[in-house]
Amino acid sequence: MKISIRPFEKEDIAKKIEWINDPENNRFLHYDLPLEYEKTLNWFEKNRGRTDRADMVIEADGEPVGLIGLLSIDRKNGKAEYYVSMGEKAMKGQGIAKEASRLILEYAFRELRLNKVYLFTETGNIAAQKLFARVGFETEGLLKADVVSHGAPADRYALGITRADWLRNQPQTPVAEAGELQNNRLFFKRDDLIPYCFGGNKARKAELFFNRIDEGGFDCVVTYGSSHSNHCRIVSNMAARRGISCIVIAPSEVSEPTFNSRFMDLFGAKLITVPVEMVHDTIKDTLAKLKAEGRKPYFIPGGGHGNIGTEAYVRCYDEIAAYENEKRIRFDYIFFASGTGTTQAGLICGKLMSGGAENIVGVSIARKNPRGRNVVLDSVREYLSAKSFACDEAEIEKTTVFIDDYTGEGYGASDSQIMAAIRCAMTEYGVPLDSTYTAKAFAGMEDYLKKNGIAGKNILFIHTGGTPLFFDDMARLNVTERTDE
Ligand SMILES: *Cc1c(COP(=O)(O)O)cnc(C)c1O
Repeated sequence: MKISIRPFEKEDIAKKIEWINDPENNRFLHYDLPLEYEKTLNWFEKNRGRTDRADMVIEADGEPVGLIGLLSIDRKNGKAEYYVSMGEKAMKGQGIAKEASRLILEYAFRELRLNKVYLFTETGNIAAQKLFARVGFETEGLLKADVVSHGAPADRYALGITRADWLRNQPQTPVAEAGELQNNRLFFKRDDLIPYCFGGNKARKAELFFNRIDEGGFDCVVTYGSSHSNHCRIVSNMAARRGISCIVIAPSEVSEPTFNSRFMDLFGAKLITVPVEMVHDTIKDTLAKLKAEGRKPYFIPGGGHGNIGTEAYVRCYDEIAAYENEKRIRFDYIFFASGTGTTQAGLICGKLMSGGAENIVGVSIARKNPRGRNVVLDSVREYLSAKSFACDEAEIEKTTVFIDDYTGEGYGASDSQIMAAIRCAMTEYGVPLDSTYTAKAFAGMEDYLKKNGIAGKNILFIHTGGTPLFFDDMARLNVTERTDE
């Protein structure tokens, strides 16, 4: 059964009246009974467009079955009151309210970024309290004679769940302390361990794109990238798992076989290889052709660029903050490989929206300044404005550190320092880095620490993936080894 929540509409009024007027349903509710159409319509019209409440309908396989929502949404204090009420009696006891509650908490903590969600429940409402406990609410106190319920004073419990507690129970990639680096404590966040074919930041982004694909019932996916592309490897994996076709538009200039392209073959992706200047039109034509055939294609921008990709790294930032809270540690610096800048934009937005204190340093793997940094800045502004999060421009500027000394000769460039970083990370920490992304970032980080005399700090390196590229590098590593002897 697929459970979803959506905004309450005018058409839902009749159902609401039927549900709330049922004595079994309204035993612990505090409505002025009976509900009538006119009154409820007034309520609906009055509350339409309000941003301090979110009234939603719970659906099971597309059929409305109950009500859920947030009241008194208080942006200043970052909190809101939650309510839930199953309407269809035959649908109770099947875990629907629990799943819907999970979804509304996700909305409260991810979309609205609240710090707390709370509720009040009559002490006699045992069934509801079991549900609230299962969703993660904790009892914070007893409020005596807090309401008059069906003519008599009733006690209520106050329950709440904080953002920190909620985040701690969300899935997250591991953070491991690796050892010392120039008298700093070095930690790795292993986004390369995200499931789906060697994971990486493209997997973190693609998960959110595929949520859209699943929700929208799309039946094929079109994307863009070279034979080296981690993004295309991941997207072909996720498409194959769903049994939908994946079409990769690839530039003929970079089309030699790599481990990533072998994976695309393994997953049955369809490659359309054209000269780079034809890529744009080929994407347009391919999408048009699929639609003409009656298909429903979804286009994912190359590298997972855009607000959806940025959102994925806001979530990564949230995971880091949750780790910091739990372990009572503060990362002074966060380093990672920056390409299209989406990863960096997400981390920056996460930090700005939660008032974090880490220094976020993107090590460019290709683009030079000022362009590289400007692309990051544009992504940050685009995301924050979509979220209606007002942020001081100077603050955004200050938070965006994009260093471009390690771009080498562009994507796939290699030099002895980068090969040394690959050898060192594998030998010292048992972590595979590749010459296109993570080894450049690692070498850039080492140099940045040295140049800026940074010591005694907590340093987090986000491993953004690309492990198949590490295997492409292995041949070159071995050659260097033999020459050394
Ligand atoms: C794509 C990629 C990056 C760069 O990510 P952006 O969001 O494009 O900046 C870094 N590391 C790896 C392994 C990648 O595949």
